[in-house]
Amino acid sequence: MPHPCLSCGACCTQYRVAFHWMESDAATEGGVPVALTEPLDRHRLCMRGTHSDPIRCVALDAEVGVYSRCSIHANRPSVCREVDASWEYGAPGEQCDKARIAHGLPALTAADWRWRDAADNDDHPDDNGNSPPTPRLPPIAA
Ligand code: SF4
Ligand code: SF4
Repeated sequence: MPHPCLSCGACCTQYRVAFHWMESDAATEGGVPVALTEPLDRHRLCMRGTHSDPIRCVALDAEVGVYSRCSIHANRPSVCREVDASWEYGAPGEQCDKARIAHGLPALTAADWRWRDAADNDDHPDDNGNSPPTPRLPPIAA
């Protein structure tokens, strides 16, 4: 089973994505592509498309609820890295839940991660071998 984010993308169409301009590649090599941002205030940029109505980040390649990919995944802003999928690390995630529900998708539950235990593979888009294990859960009743 693939990671739930790969068939979602809801949070990238739900929140303003703002961050300090120093995170951009205008200031930091390998940073967020400044061409995909717009100024928010004196110190901050935001991802284009996330300070508008409706919200949709310009870097999102998705049909929400079907497939989803961040086209600048390796260079995405810190605020994006901080949004955990609900229950991926054993706790609910308010931003994830709110975004999914706003798109008519069910909030994730701990059961959405059981496949990862069986496969011994977290298959996280960020996988660097350091992801914490999924919490132990009782077996699913037949
Ligand atoms: S963090 Fe949650 S809302 Fe965002 S893409 Fe993943 S499952 Fe969807
Ligand atoms: S930069 Fe990537 S992860 Fe962040 S909101 Fe845009 S598409 Fe989503």
